[in-house]
Amino acid sequence: MSLLDVRNVETFYGASQALFGVSLDVKEGEVVALMGRNGMGKTTTISSIFGLTRPRSGSIRFADREIAGMLPHRIARLGLGLVPEGRRCFPNLTVSENLMAAARGEDWTFEKVVELFPRLGERRDQYADSLSGGEQQMLAIGRALMTNPRLLVLDEATEGLAPVIRHDIWRAIARLKAEGQSILIVDKTLLELLALADRCFVLEKGVTVFEGSPQALTPELQDRYLGV
Ligand code: ATP
Repeated sequence: MSLLDVRNVETFYGASQALFGVSLDVKEGEVVALMGRNGMGKTTTISSIFGLTRPRSGSIRFADREIAGMLPHRIARLGLGLVPEGRRCFPNLTVSENLMAAARGEDWTFEKVVELFPRLGERRDQYADSLSGGEQQMLAIGRALMTNPRLLVLDEATEGLAPVIRHDIWRAIARLKAEGQSILIVDKTLLELLALADRCFVLEKGVTVFEGSPQALTPELQDRYLGV
């Protein structure tokens, strides 16, 4: 059984349709990559899952419960943790305050997040708006983990970051995977993404056009769907 099961979702922005039939699923303990060129509907799929843009039709089941149409805070409370595009944190709270404000459940603690991202420990009393972009991204991931999500969803977590910071973030994601964390991830760095993912889904113009293992996403298909 899948932890998350998205079936034939159609989502609109006003009169303009963005998703025309998106289907994907994530099983417990899996890392699933959601891919596609710019504007193909990845972020809209994520915001549909989290109830931030309501799907007009289709089904979204999480932990065997229909969540399409539920309010975002109720969806989050069921165990979905989002690291949104643009790494949102509270700018005028410190690193530790940001993390503690998100705390829910028992497994992930401030100490465990700092062990994953030692830079956050060094900057625990700094305000979030004084952090570098990479540190803010680590904080955004830390905040999502503090909610102890059954499924962690990462939208462009490495975008615009220096290579050394990107490397730290990929390493952290690999560690989460090794610990059995279920993850749905959107990212443009194909090499790292395909090395980590158990399965991939590709969107084209708001429709799922490919589902399979990273190996099945051959260079020809990458060229066709991702323009690589
Ligand atoms: P990117 O990689 O550029 O972030 P994406 O695959 O995440 O792209 P979406 O951001 O989901 O794609 O966009 C899907 C479609 O929906 C695009 O045609 C986009 O122009 C449109 N869209 C996205 N957000 C809005 C919005 N707030 N209002 C209207 N249309 C939108």
